[in-house]
Amino acid sequence: MPVGTAATVKALTNEALEELGASIILANTYHLYLRPGHPLIHKLGGLHKFMSWPGAILTDSGGYQVFSLAALRKITDEGVTFRSHLDGSEHLLTPEKAAEIQLALGADIAMVLDECIETPAPRDKAETALVRTTLWAKRAREFFLVNEASFGGMRQWQFGIVQGATFADLRRESARQLLELDFPGYAVGGLAVGEPHAMTCEMAGEVTALLPPERPRYLMGVGRPEQLADYVALGIDMMDCVLPTRAARHACLYTSEGRVLIKNARYAEDQRPIDPRCECSVCKRYTRAYLRHLFAAGEISAAILASHHNVHFYLDIMRQIREAIEFGNVAKFSAEMQARYAAGPA
Ligand SMILES: [Zn+2]
Repeated sequence: MPVGTAATVKALTNEALEELGASIILANTYHLYLRPGHPLIHKLGGLHKFMSWPGAILTDSGGYQVFSLAALRKITDEGVTFRSHLDGSEHLLTPEKAAEIQLALGADIAMVLDECIETPAPRDKAETALVRTTLWAKRAREFFLVNEASFGGMRQWQFGIVQGATFADLRRESARQLLELDFPGYAVGGLAVGEPHAMTCEMAGEVTALLPPERPRYLMGVGRPEQLADYVALGIDMMDCVLPTRAARHACLYTSEGRVLIKNARYAEDQRPIDPRCECSVCKRYTRAYLRHLFAAGEISAAILASHHNVHFYLDIMRQIREAIEFGNVAKFSAEMQARYAAGPA
């Protein structure tokens, strides 16, 4: 899922996203709650209509941004009190409030509020967060089931989020507790936040082994191109990441040969496309030399073209992984991808 923080995937129009074949995007509840506000979006017909996006949308709970962006956080069992990073105003985000905001936004998939903690976390802190995450998930589920019908009848799926930091037994316990709440889909949260990739995989694997395979399993906030197949091999169905668009804006292009840091002088006269094996409209038309020039000149089109290519590259990896699943060679695909990326920029 490309990330469309403020109801837009940075530097890409919805027309471009459609051309790229994006079927679902993510929008950030925290940002939309603060600006322009969920009541306005609800009044104007919901997020799909507001941003004119006919595809699927997933909204997060707002929790991750509250824990990472907002100031003066005070966490109690009731919820999280925080100050807006925009104007310093004080807000209380509760599990009920997060569910209510997302019902008002009207995305197809909504996430429950969970407690995000820093990794590595001491065990007692991870245990406390786990208890609170389940408590909040229960309250969010109850609120959702009671109030779902009063928000215009658009069917929304609410997902639970498994926590437990880097403790395998806590991860399993969190999954078991959430399974009792019977969510239509489950996410694995609090991973890929600095721990080694092997640890991310180990924890995700502990959880996917317990979650029902017929319901979507979503690993939040991952990952690098060469890691995606590993997660799929563990049973992960959905992922979101700001990396393709964020890296694009920082002149980092992902290719079948590895990363291309396009500002590098070696590309000044390079007449090849960003990725000779890429079939995106940017690679069909523009050269590395031109992209490098646009970045050097600080042109807006640099971000637009780079984002277009990177999102195509990510979505194409997922298409290739689906194909690899059909042929039973995901492990081979993953190994080849990792070897290319280990070799460094082309
Ligand atoms: Zn391309």
